[in-house]
Amino acid sequence: MSVLVLAEATQGVFKKKIHEAVQYGANIAKNINGNVIVLALGTIAPDQLQTLAAFGAQKIMHVADARLDAFNSKAYTKAVLAAVAQTGAKVFITTHDVSGKAVAPRVAAALQAGMVAGAISYPDVTNGFIVKKSVFAGKAFAHVNITSNIKVITLTGNTFPIVKGEGTATVEAFTVAFDDSDFGIKVMEVNKVSGAVPLGEAELVVSGGRGMKGPENWGVLESLAGELGAALACSRPVADSHWRPHHEHVGQTGGTIRPNLYIAVGISGAIQHLAGVNASKTIVVINKDPEAPFFKAADYGVIGDAMEVVPRLTEAVKQFKASH
Ligand SMILES: Cc1cc2nc3c(=O)[nH]c(=O)nc-3n(C[C@H](O)[C@H](O)[C@H](O)COP(=O)(O)OP(=O)(O)OC[C@H]3O[C@@H](n4cnc5c(N)ncnc54)[C@H](O)[C@@H]3O)c2cc1C
Repeated sequence: MSVLVLAEATQGVFKKKIHEAVQYGANIAKNINGNVIVLALGTIAPDQLQTLAAFGAQKIMHVADARLDAFNSKAYTKAVLAAVAQTGAKVFITTHDVSGKAVAPRVAAALQAGMVAGAISYPDVTNGFIVKKSVFAGKAFAHVNITSNIKVITLTGNTFPIVKGEGTATVEAFTVAFDDSDFGIKVMEVNKVSGAVPLGEAELVVSGGRGMKGPENWGVLESLAGELGAALACSRPVADSHWRPHHEHVGQTGGTIRPNLYIAVGISGAIQHLAGVNASKTIVVINKDPEAPFFKAADYGVIGDAMEVVPRLTEAVKQFKASH
């Protein structure tokens, strides 16, 4: 039984979330005595394709069509459906991000396949095909049995640590019969978010809320993030007030992240905020109000003024780095 994984490249390069999805697909294939096939789309150099072998890719089908360099849900869906038809894959895996969330339901609808969006476990195949996901804004878990012949899963990023191995994959050119109508939407311009660490991929995140009082105070958070090599995030009112860009907004209506460490500074911990961050592995809350609801979700809490606590924390990180 084959497992097909969609590997989207960003300017010809695979991000960590793709490595994780390939590893996830490869491990599922092992569990069901199948093989994993990766579908790579767009202009990607052969050595970049081979990087996927280190995460378990055995065979890579490459559609080297430059029109796929920019994400296009219709054309990507068509390519996936063609690859499923060609390989007879019974499981399709993609990432639970903007692209995966657009492609997976289209693929599932076309194939009459059951789908789990935002998986956070490997399927339990001992009695069915049961996949765990978060529901009710992270308040509960659902264990969903996919009973259809073909199964579709989007994998929540940062769910599993990736382990780089060795290996070589077979790369095969794959042609999809696109027509012009598949490319009815054209990307006119791409504005890349600058910043050292992309939020969705970050293992460490420093996040600020309205308690920071204004954008002029973000320097202390930037210094801490800089020392830690962390990405910056914020609560919704902060983005809505244009203190920070919208791509940093996390929560129910913003990004969902699962970093190893989430440091929340001056954020009350409303349920809508927690929905995007409560799967973080360790949560540190800095808030001057001991009754702030976020403390209930915290692993570590500091009661104090952000403008005093954060610079001291940054200093401590600096000293720690200097002595190690
Ligand atoms: C449909 C819907 C969707 C929403 N989606 C989201 C979402 O995706 N993400 C999101 O974040 N919110 C979302 N919200 C808003 C959410 O309900 C909260 O209003 C919001 O998260 C509060 O942001 P905050 O914690 O930054 O601000 P506040 O609630 O104002 O909290 C500020 C905190 O800072 C603390 N503080 C103040 N001064 C200091 C200081 N000097 N030092 C340390 N701490 C200090 C205060 O004690 C307080 O706890 C949504 C709301 C709705 C209705």
